[in-house]
Amino acid sequence: MTDASNTLSRRTLLAGLAAAPALTTTGPATAQISTPNSAAEQAQAALKEAKATRLVLLGTGAGPVPGRTRRMTSHVMLSNGAAYVLDCGLGVTDQFARTGIPFAALRSIFITHHHADHNIEYGPLLIVGWIQGMRPDIRAFGPPPLKQMTEDFIRAYRQTVDFWAEDFKMKPLHAVDVTEVPTAGPVMQDDNVKVSAILVEHPPVKPALAYRFDFGDRSIAFSGDTAPFEAVATLAKGADVLVHEAMYVPAVEDYLRAQIAKGRPVKLEDYMAHMKADHTPVEDVGRIAQEAGVKTLVLSHLTPAIDTLTDDTWRAPAAKYFKGEIVVGKDLMVV
Ligand SMILES: [Zn+2]
Ligand SMILES: [Zn+2]
Repeated sequence: MTDASNTLSRRTLLAGLAAAPALTTTGPATAQISTPNSAAEQAQAALKEAKATRLVLLGTGAGPVPGRTRRMTSHVMLSNGAAYVLDCGLGVTDQFARTGIPFAALRSIFITHHHADHNIEYGPLLIVGWIQGMRPDIRAFGPPPLKQMTEDFIRAYRQTVDFWAEDFKMKPLHAVDVTEVPTAGPVMQDDNVKVSAILVEHPPVKPALAYRFDFGDRSIAFSGDTAPFEAVATLAKGADVLVHEAMYVPAVEDYLRAQIAKGRPVKLEDYMAHMKADHTPVEDVGRIAQEAGVKTLVLSHLTPAIDTLTDDTWRAPAAKYFKGEIVVGKDLMVV
């Protein structure tokens, strides 16, 4: 082969590779990677019919643990055709694509705190999103040092970005508009939504944020990762939906006892004290949701994220206190 034909065939291959995923962003084409009636198809159908603002749970498992049924934490809200992503655990890009929402619809990304199960795929979402037609004026919000992290990540992938930019005559992704959120207060407002945040209790992570999104037709609040914290009830006051992290203590203790039996050098009491200082038992989640007076409580960021716990096991402790609708989060569920 001559150099010219080498270049040509490489370009053709790259173009083919690029075109294939780009096609899927138009929506129904994603069905080809799904089995009939899959969670992805159900989500796509629900979003297609939806007139109002919708929330899709992209990942509902707690902790940076790969290979589970539940992906790490991420969500997307869709309102008037504009998409807002909250948290970027591993799997966010794939799960976003599976909803059929085009990458061009993505307006803003929000990060609650800098634990890996909430931010590890933030950079890859930006790069893959850019290749797939994301708007150049995409904005990102989150605790410091999000600005530095974004710049460092884009710098690390500069050559990768420039290869694609040259090949496909795309404007390279060399910067993203980042706003750091160091304290409680208003975060942003655009033509669809007003976003505010508070600081929550998730030691030693500081700041760790909870967010509230007030869309024209719907309000959705997120606890982020936190120990039981009354301010979350205040933030979520009167919201339609509260997505709250939830821990089922008996299952965490069972898991730990099994680990200790295998020789893990940890004391049950010490470990549980640490868990309770950082996360919210599901009973307390019910109490906080009742205090907030929300219509729907979504249990997510489930600890432990194991498949053997039934929905009723999760729901019952929260239902002792909360009298509204309780949804046990599952990946790609549309709320
Ligand atoms: Zn977490
Ligand atoms: Zn965390």
